[in-house]
Amino acid sequence: MDPMTQRRIIVVPGRLERHIAHCWEEAHAEQRRRIKAATEEAQAEAERAREAARAAEEAARLARCPRPDKVAWGTREGAQDGVHVMRSRRQDPDLTLVAYRCSCGGWHIGNDRSGRATIGPRVPP
Ligand SMILES: [Zn+2]
Repeated sequence: MDPMTQRRIIVVPGRLERHIAHCWEEAHAEQRRRIKAATEEAQAEAERAREAARAAEEAARLARCPRPDKVAWGTREGAQDGVHVMRSRRQDPDLTLVAYRCSCGGWHIGNDRSGRATIGPRVPP
């Protein structure tokens, strides 16, 4: 008889169980890696979409802004903080600086030319 056909499976106690457990664990580890990779890719894609939306929104704001050269804050408080920072950096604090709402929807800092400056008299140089 052909010696190849005489091969017999030798079952070592516990070995088959360990092999099955190992294969099972390998399959699960692979599945976890794939889920993690798919999750990370989906998160990266969502972040790219958010960034594209932010860029489109900013481009639209700049297109309707009469002063696109100016920094735009999202809130009045942010722009007012900017006013305080600008004043604190100058020896001659420009007390006419005010935060104002722009037609672009943002808040800018500019000189109050309305004559309604309520912050106090300008400090002479
Ligand atoms: Zn503007």
